[in-house]
Amino acid sequence: MPVKNHIALPPGSVVGIFGGGQLGRMMAVAAAQMGYHTHIYADEAAGPAIEVSHCHTIASYSDEECLKNFAQEVDVATYEFENIPVNSLREVQKLVPVYPKPEILEIAQDRVAEKDFCNELGIPTAPYWRVTDLETLELSLNELGLPGLLKSTRFGYDGKNQIKVKIGDNLNDAWNRIGGGPGVLEGWMDYEREISIIVVRTQNGDVQCYDPVENEHKNYVLHRSIVPARISSDTEEEAVIAAKNLAVSLDLVGVLAVEMFVMKDGAIAINEMAPRPHNSGHWTIEACGSSQFEQLIRCICGVPLGTCARNADAEMQNLLGDEVNDWLLYLGDPAQKLHLYGKGEIRAGRKMGHVTSLKPLSKEL
Ligand code: AMP
Repeated sequence: MPVKNHIALPPGSVVGIFGGGQLGRMMAVAAAQMGYHTHIYADEAAGPAIEVSHCHTIASYSDEECLKNFAQEVDVATYEFENIPVNSLREVQKLVPVYPKPEILEIAQDRVAEKDFCNELGIPTAPYWRVTDLETLELSLNELGLPGLLKSTRFGYDGKNQIKVKIGDNLNDAWNRIGGGPGVLEGWMDYEREISIIVVRTQNGDVQCYDPVENEHKNYVLHRSIVPARISSDTEEEAVIAAKNLAVSLDLVGVLAVEMFVMKDGAIAINEMAPRPHNSGHWTIEACGSSQFEQLIRCICGVPLGTCARNADAEMQNLLGDEVNDWLLYLGDPAQKLHLYGKGEIRAGRKMGHVTSLKPLSKEL
């Protein structure tokens, strides 16, 4: 398919990536395969992305001088994690395109803004209340009348900064646990399973979704992703429509991961979204025509999409902490594909790598 309306970045161009973690590493590998160079901007010298990238800047994310120099050295910029100050992206955007655009990150950084955005589109979420102090927390909990989950609106991930609450609990403790707000109180969702959909969209508005993937968490952290998800075709259709609707309404260029709860009646509710490749999409490296990382690079560099079509059933398991010590077992099993992130220190719960296994396709695409 010919490229319309915009100029494709030629091989040799430099893709700037904010963040030096494993997602940046896999983005850099995909970019290199397509002949692009990568320049990592990170605030820590040791990072999985740095050792596989062309060059790097180590500086604070709000160092104006370094941001300007970085912008002058790259042809396009993206980000691999969500806690980049949006204003820093805006600085860079004065000189080069930043995808997905900073406004999308601004919404994704705030759990309330994210839910407001979904609800304005008629896409369901858990019931929620913005809580600014102990008093609004108590009022909201009384209104909810059922157990809820109190989360900080910002900087929460993998179950960090969140706590289950019910009427009669010591709310002072809960409030302190999430760092004293601002927070969001969500109704506790008695879901049947969790899924996510990864949607990709180009500068021309071409949009594709990967198949929904089923996610199992342990202690709020992703443990395993399995595709195909065990959901009905109606649920799948609803999930795909919601994900595409979000991508188009946000004017996404790049990759958006949308995490959803599937309720017992098959209805979906959005939990959260991330405008970047996602842990629950790592299986796309082995199981699809083009991985989530490759599609991101294609979108931001202005080249046509590859295909999100799946060639196999897949299961991806995270290797947390000392689970990584089984690396040789995985390498000894030709059915398993091991990815290690090159992190030096093993810490409990730290994402050290993942392993993917494939099975013959069980469902026609
Ligand atoms: P989050 O940090 O929002 O991705 O939440 C981490 C995990 O906590 C999710 O994957 C769910 O397993 C669980 N969780 C989050 N929100 C809710 C909710 N409203 N009701 C029940 N479980 C939830």
